[in-house]
Amino acid sequence: MRSDRELAIPASEYELLSRMDVAASRGAAVKVRAGQVVRITLPDGPQIVDLNCWNAKDPREHFWSGRTRILEGVHLSVGNRLWSIHPWMRPMMTILTDTVEHRPSPGGGIGHDCLYARCTDKLWEMLTGKKNHQNCQDNLAQAISSFGLTPFHVHDALNLFMKTGIDPQNGRLFFVKSDAKKGDYVDLSAEMDLIVACSSCPGGAGDLQRPIVHRVGIDVYRPGTPEKRRRKRNG
Ligand SMILES: [Zn+2]
Repeated sequence: MRSDRELAIPASEYELLSRMDVAASRGAAVKVRAGQVVRITLPDGPQIVDLNCWNAKDPREHFWSGRTRILEGVHLSVGNRLWSIHPWMRPMMTILTDTVEHRPSPGGGIGHDCLYARCTDKLWEMLTGKKNHQNCQDNLAQAISSFGLTPFHVHDALNLFMKTGIDPQNGRLFFVKSDAKKGDYVDLSAEMDLIVACSSCPGGAGDLQRPIVHRVGIDVYRPGTPEKRRRKRNG
């Protein structure tokens, strides 16, 4: 029997189309066609990944963290969809696989949230006093510039591998060290042609006292082996 967290499509039926590295504390973006699967991997160790996506044909349409939080939940996993902003408001991606062994913290903290906003240089300055700190806003803006998108296209992210919650005592958000480990990944199926950008957050795995920041992998797969697709085409 297959558990929820195993591949929705057997691994042997995934054909790798492209593989890209996001350097530690940097960003990268890739085009993903409808029906393809993007796999966000942690090849070196636990790492928070801020994910943004846009409709490749009309990038005014992008991921809506707030609506997704309401329709799907504040933490996402297998079967949850990423919704786009008004007026489109439709699924952009669906999570197919999540290998993270989630261990909810006593305060209810769990992984992959739609709670937190992307980090910015101003936020890091508030936290550390240092100006011009690396940050997810700039990483994502840099990553999408080659697709003709601007810093104003960057939006609040799906925070993959980030472990967060809401403190019932005071209603404030909190985050703790990620449950993710080296080798974990999340597969997302594209519901439309997309530009997908990821930032390796300079906050590392959520331990801000000793942030260790890792690179991230972005693999794009086509479900179905070439042989299977040929058979399907020929009936
Ligand atoms: Zn960040």
